[in-house]
Amino acid sequence: MTIQILDAYIKDVGGIPIHRVLPQKGKRNIGAWCFLDHAGPTRFGDDERGMQVGAHPHTRLQTFTWMIDGEVRHKDSLGNETTIRAGEVNLMTAGDGISHTEQTPANCKILHAVQLWIALPENQTIEPSFHHYPDLPKWHDEHAAYVLTTGTFADNTAPTLQYSPIVGVDVKTETASAWMLPLNCEFEYGVFVISGSLKMGEHTVQPEQLLYVPQGADSLAIEASANTHFLLIGGAPLQHEPLIWWNFVAPDHDYVNTATRDWQLPENRAARFGQIDSDLPPLVAPKSPWDKSE
Ligand code: MN
Repeated sequence: MTIQILDAYIKDVGGIPIHRVLPQKGKRNIGAWCFLDHAGPTRFGDDERGMQVGAHPHTRLQTFTWMIDGEVRHKDSLGNETTIRAGEVNLMTAGDGISHTEQTPANCKILHAVQLWIALPENQTIEPSFHHYPDLPKWHDEHAAYVLTTGTFADNTAPTLQYSPIVGVDVKTETASAWMLPLNCEFEYGVFVISGSLKMGEHTVQPEQLLYVPQGADSLAIEASANTHFLLIGGAPLQHEPLIWWNFVAPDHDYVNTATRDWQLPENRAARFGQIDSDLPPLVAPKSPWDKSE
């Protein structure tokens, strides 16, 4: 079993430095999970506005936001407006075109969240949709407290909409503990450490690192230090790596070129990606490396 430890790299999202661990060179996805950004924990000053991400499009993916602390205001082109709070999941399904804004509300001075993307299966027409899940399965045992954000784990099943078999679990320890996490041997897994540290055999995983566990294991022996917080994500391996460019997952390069041009052309933008009433300027799509037009 080839276990890998991956380090996050730093990017700027809406004025906030974030740690991104997926995709990266050598590891594009874990099952259909194809993107993982860890934002915060960050505290904003009185004169700071926090995260302000203007309208931007998505295709062929689901954005999956797991709020750890603070609040984010979401508005999308389907007309949904919600505030997501700690312990809740927002799930936006892009289909072939949707757009949204993501903002720290004016009265909120904390941001701590993880945003993941889930690649949608190809060869299926999937309608855009938005779901907010304020009530997720939560439980604890003698080792840790768990929140199931999607899928099935330890006899619990989350209500979260899925298009491919995946799982997401938030795990927190109070005291140092060693135990076995039950795994589905059909899945590959990632363990992303938010705080504290984990040991698995000779491997130690620190905050902003992801441990990759290939398909085939039915359990994972872990040793967590006190006050460790980590996410377990897993899914059935995909036939091939998803193609991701900017905010798009796409079946091929032409699809990326068309989506990019549709976003940049005002006459195409609203027809494909809808409209959002927002004071923030929309994001500008970078030209794709496969677009040979002037
Ligand atoms: Mn987005």
